[in-house]
Formats: sequence, C-alpha cells, structure tokens
Amino acid sequence: MNKQKNIELKAELLSEGLWVTDKALSGIGTQYKEQNHGLFGWDFEDHVGIALPDDFVLQDGTIVQLRMNTRSSYWIDATGNGLVLLKGRRKIGPVEWLPRPAFYKRKTKSGREMVKIGQIGGADCLFFCYQNFCSHFARGKQCLFCNLVSTTVTYDSVLRKKDSEEIGEVAAAAFSEGQAKHVLLTGGCFDRQKEVDVLCTILDSIRRHTGFDTIPGTILPSPARNKDDLKAYHEAGIQAIGYSMEIWDEPLYRAICPGKSDSVSHDEFIDSIKTAIDIFGAGNVYAVFVMGLEPKKTFLEGVKAVTSIGANVVPFAWSPNPGSMLEGHRAPSSQWFLETILEAAEIVYDTAIPAGTENHCYRCDGNSLLHDALRLKGVE
Ligand code: SF4
Repeated sequence: MNKQKNIELKAELLSEGLWVTDKALSGIGTQYKEQNHGLFGWDFEDHVGIALPDDFVLQDGTIVQLRMNTRSSYWIDATGNGLVLLKGRRKIGPVEWLPRPAFYKRKTKSGREMVKIGQIGGADCLFFCYQNFCSHFARGKQCLFCNLVSTTVTYDSVLRKKDSEEIGEVAAAAFSEGQAKHVLLTGGCFDRQKEVDVLCTILDSIRRHTGFDTIPGTILPSPARNKDDLKAYHEAGIQAIGYSMEIWDEPLYRAICPGKSDSVSHDEFIDSIKTAIDIFGAGNVYAVFVMGLEPKKTFLEGVKAVTSIGANVVPFAWSPNPGSMLEGHRAPSSQWFLETILEAAEIVYDTAIPAGTENHCYRCDGNSLLHDALRLKGVE
C-alpha cells in the first residue's frame, strides 16, 4: 500500500472509528499499551471496564489513534499471523499494537501509580495533563467538541491534579526506558500567573529528574499576557510551546468555544504566537486546531496565516465523542480530511519553517494527519 493510501486509510479510521474482536484484545493492558484517558476520550462510544488499545501502527509506521465504534465497517482481528485490519469481509492489511511502557507498572516514591500521572501518546510522546479541570463547564460554556468532564467522570482513571515532583519522577522513568522522546504538557484552565508558576515548577522538576538541560517537547499553556511569562517558560528549559486556538474562523471560534473565546480572543492568540516565536524561534511554536469543524477554506487560511509568521500547526482530526455537546454528530468524510490535509501540507512545506520534529513528530500523533502528509514530502 503506498503512503498516500495509508493517510487516506488513517483519515477513514479516524472519521469512522473501528471495533476490535476479543481475540485481538488479548494482552491489552499487560503486553500492549491501553487507553488511560489522560484528558479527553476520543472513542465514539464509552467502554467502561473494557481495556482498549490507545493506538496502533500501520505497516509503514503510521500511527493511528483507536476510536471505538461498534457500528463501523472497520475492525481488527487476531489471526495465526498477527493482527489484521478488515473492512467488512475484505482484508486490508496487517497492523500492530504498541508495546506497554514499563513505567505503567511502576509507582512513585509516595506510592502513586505512574500511569495515573503521565501516559505515552502514540509511540513516543510522554503526555501530562497537570490538572484535569476546566472552569468553562460550570458555566455551560465548554467548547462544543470537548468531553473533558464526561471522560473524567466516566473513567476516573487518572489523578486530577498531579504533583510536580511526581511528574519529574515519571519523566525520568519514561525517558530512561527509551520509549519517550518528547513531552507534551497541558493543564486545562488556569489562572494565568498561577499557571506560569505551576508550569515552571514542573519543568524544573522534569529537568532535575531526567538530567536534561533542555526538555524535548511542547507545553500548551494559556496565552501569556506578557513577554516575561514566555521568557520564564523558555528559561525553565522547554524547547517548544503551543496554543490551542481550536478554530481559525473567528465567528466560528466564538460559537464553538464560547467560554474560551470570552477569555482569549483570536488576536491574543496571534500576538502570543508572534511573541513566542521571538523567544522560542521559528518552528518551535505551534498553533493547535481541531480539524473538521470549520470549512476547508478557513482552516487553510489559518494554516497559511500561522505558518507565514513562523509557527507550525498541529491539527487534530475531530470525532464526535461521547459527553461532548456534539455527541452523535458526524465528522466530515475521510476524503475531505485527505484533500484538506494534503493542501495544508503543501502550505507548511512551502513556508520552509523548521519542522520541529525533535519536539513533536509523526510518532506522537495518532490523531493528526499533518505529519503523515509531510512525510510524503520527506519531512520526518
Ligand atoms: S478550554 Fe475548551 S477544549 Fe480546553 S478543556 Fe476547556 S472546554 Fe475543553
């Protein structure tokens, strides 16, 4: 199967979901990496009590996030020769689960399970949500695609607030076993000054425990009000920073993210991105979008606008997940995702900003298609 076919297949699997036979689930949570719902749930259906894989790998190394949908025509079965992906009765090709990190079995010095503090996303991205909380839900102003509260209540699988020292311990364990290559840190919704202090303390802890001078990876904080906050993050040793803008089209941003747009305007995001580029350097700043909730035209305008000022883009492919306001809706077709991401990749490639793959790479990303599309152009 050629590489573009694999992106098309990944787009189909993200927009349609899939299901897995009991036989193929053997070893999930022991030998192979399971979902731990560190922040959001991305499945089409909840699956309390059933350990599902977080993601899987296609033959060319493409990482695909597993999104459970028992109505999908795609499914994975186990055969004598390993796992196979099927559509209806048609065999598509072999797939593999990802190994379960060894630190998932370990505990911190104070006895907390490490897997409840940090999890590996994709094959190599160590993810921490330092606080699973967002105040927009209490006011009924959560982003329409977000199921943070429902996921937390349904699975109750991670610590809601993580201790900075323990985050450092988990980072040391994950990097020393070799699986983690980057970190990704986010923290829901915070008072901004408090967030700067909290995040810098966490970064200091990660550096002390791992021995890193600078930490490969990305933080996703709220936009900083002033340049000094951004300098503080940079001096704390993180290599890259991103902002979850979600939607480029401004009226749609206000409609889809009512609480967030009350507290952070579109222009504030752009100002923060520009300031962050001055400090972190071109390619080390990201605008994070949810792809599939706005027209292709405005999404691509956003990609063009942020890359033209020197930022990279991470567009997560939207799925109508349970507990979000858009539960039960449908994502665009896989063809829409494919065409849009190939055009986005052209734009990113043509701007020739540094790829930043030392901080975020295609192996981090089971739920985005952009790195895969850039791989077609030799960017890894
Ligand atoms: S800001 Fe939006 S996406 Fe982020 S946690 Fe709150 S509701 Fe969810």
